[in-house]
Amino acid sequence: MGLDKSPVSSLKGVGPALAGKLAKIGIFTLQDVLFHLPFRYEDRTRITPIGMLVPGKSVVLEGEIISCDIAYGRRRSLLAYLQDSTGQIALRFFHFTKAQQRNLSSSRSIRCFGEARLGATGLEIYHPEYSQNVSAELPKHFTPVYPGTEGVSQQRYRKIVSQVFALMSSGDQLDELMGDIEHPYEIDINNALDLVHNPPHDVDMDALLAGRHLAQQNLAFEELLAHQISLRLVRDEINRLEAPCFHSPGIDYKALISSFGYELTDAQIRVAGEVAIDMAQTSPTLRLIQGDVGSGKTVIAALSAVHAHENGYQCALMAPTEILAEQHFINLSSWLTPLGITTAWLTGKVKGKRRREELESIASGSARVVIGTHALFQKDVQFGNLGLVIIDEQHRFGVHQRLALREKGNKDKFMPHQLIMTATPIPRTLTMSMYADMDCSIIDELPPGRKPVTTNVLPDSRRDDVVTRVKSACQSGAQAYWVCTLVEESEIIQCQAAEATATDLSRELKGLEVGLIHGRLPAAEKAETMNQFKAGEIDLLVATTVIEVGVDVPNASLMVIENSERLGLAQLHQLRGRIGRGKAQSHCLLLYHSPLGETSRQRLNVLRESNDGFHIAEMDLQIRGPGELFGSRQSGSLQFRIADLLRDHHMLDDIARIANQLLRNDQISARAIIERWIVSPEEFSQA
Ligand code: ADP
Ligand code: MG
Repeated sequence: MGLDKSPVSSLKGVGPALAGKLAKIGIFTLQDVLFHLPFRYEDRTRITPIGMLVPGKSVVLEGEIISCDIAYGRRRSLLAYLQDSTGQIALRFFHFTKAQQRNLSSSRSIRCFGEARLGATGLEIYHPEYSQNVSAELPKHFTPVYPGTEGVSQQRYRKIVSQVFALMSSGDQLDELMGDIEHPYEIDINNALDLVHNPPHDVDMDALLAGRHLAQQNLAFEELLAHQISLRLVRDEINRLEAPCFHSPGIDYKALISSFGYELTDAQIRVAGEVAIDMAQTSPTLRLIQGDVGSGKTVIAALSAVHAHENGYQCALMAPTEILAEQHFINLSSWLTPLGITTAWLTGKVKGKRRREELESIASGSARVVIGTHALFQKDVQFGNLGLVIIDEQHRFGVHQRLALREKGNKDKFMPHQLIMTATPIPRTLTMSMYADMDCSIIDELPPGRKPVTTNVLPDSRRDDVVTRVKSACQSGAQAYWVCTLVEESEIIQCQAAEATATDLSRELKGLEVGLIHGRLPAAEKAETMNQFKAGEIDLLVATTVIEVGVDVPNASLMVIENSERLGLAQLHQLRGRIGRGKAQSHCLLLYHSPLGETSRQRLNVLRESNDGFHIAEMDLQIRGPGELFGSRQSGSLQFRIADLLRDHHMLDDIARIANQLLRNDQISARAIIERWIVSPEEFSQA
């Protein structure tokens, strides 16, 4: 059995309990052990003279124990003094056994490893690792430190790794899958892994720690290639499936366009056309529609839904939050009901009789356009004849979820068309690697008459001025949002903070109507509040970031965002996109808590200077990196073992080209590369 198939339990000393712990961190096979890479290294290759110690550095020391006693300070500890020809240092143990005390007291020479820090007696080392065997050979390599091995000690994990390397040196090697491929990072994969786990003494440590060593770049390249190939194969498989072939749009479609009350923008016409052409094919459409906030994506969704209906098929429109689903339902019903097209509404909160009725009309096909949250894809939801799935605000759903949803609509060889709408402008450099399985349309134009939002960045010490400004704006008929943000706190705390802010603001803004909306309110209450805000009955809406996506109230022209320095640029841009939708000039006030760091200042300035989502996304990528860009919530979708899109995106051109070549000329290697790098969903669910 090769390393890729042998389970970790085939190693000496790995029983079911340890194997279970390893499985939790995604390590099942010996190959997985190799791909779990160190994140830093210790230098145990040489002995440091005690006189040359500096605080904060971990080093190997060797010397004589000159005393060993219990010290009674604030905490009882065992204190031993180690001395060599250059000086002496205290070794301190807060946890120790009688045996350890006897053992150290009677030792003469020891060798130890630990980090020196400033303690009660000067430089001290707390809980050093130590051994009496001073004649043992020092390691030739840096000692790896592995991430996230909870429940498995570093020493134990290192033993596992060295067993695997022992097998490799006796001939059990990984296949070189990129052997015939010309690329800039040529190094045999076995050597690359050896170097990363056991870096030799003369390695370029800076490069290694930055992940830029040739060996790491080689691995990252192969990993990105694996992802690229797998997305392309998914696409090929989809192309082999069948989808309903839609005739050109008909009377209802045209009637809908004339009912909007405005001309479609050129970009909307172009994208609607691209979608209509896709859906006239016999293979399933898979199209990503990117359009900045306010670019009018809902229109495209409505048109496509009517197009499906005209061809006798149902459409499902899925939104990431209840509020947004509700809003789509209100919009689409108001457009479609006059055309005699029945809409239905389904979220987790729709229960009992109402739910049974909705489920029935969805199953019978009498509900033509079904709008809801991910509840739409639960087991008990059966569609009569689903022909089109539209997912709004895709960035909330990870790649894995996307693939799972696709499976859901897949009956035999049949699969509905699928549109994915996102307001997160994805830098072109990343689209290719993340969405290689999709076609892409961009609505690169806003409806006419929009005035760019002006943005100011202010310290929260000026909150009083801000409140005054909100007051005068609302008194002259404008509406405003006040966004409370707390990152990394629990949702409960966030909602409580919003409640407190709303209470304060209603006291400060006597005579104005202050509303509150956050994720923990009952759906009915949220909907009621949104409707009141839409109707102009609420002047100021205090909200958590639940309003981030999709909410559309054109009369709102002022937004205050608290703690803006803690949010990602993409998220701030989304929030700000709630205003600037009507005729009036809109303003956004970004409050921050002083002092503002240099990076934060730079980031907020990007927003102050630009309203262009693509530009902002590119800048965000430069300043913070893709993990932040897509938000931690869906970081799962971007988890690579080794690759880092920010660091490695310069590889993407080569990767696209090579993926093409491999798929054309060498399917066997292509599949082997995927198998090596991509954890299959079944494997994942076992963990
Ligand atoms: P998003 O792309 O952010 O989902 P929406 O679909 O919510 O944008 O549209 C934003 C606003 O612009 C809505 O009020 C919508 O009615 C309006 N709108 C959409 N298309 C046009 C257009 N062609 N002309 C004028 N207003 C439009
Ligand atoms: Mg929208």
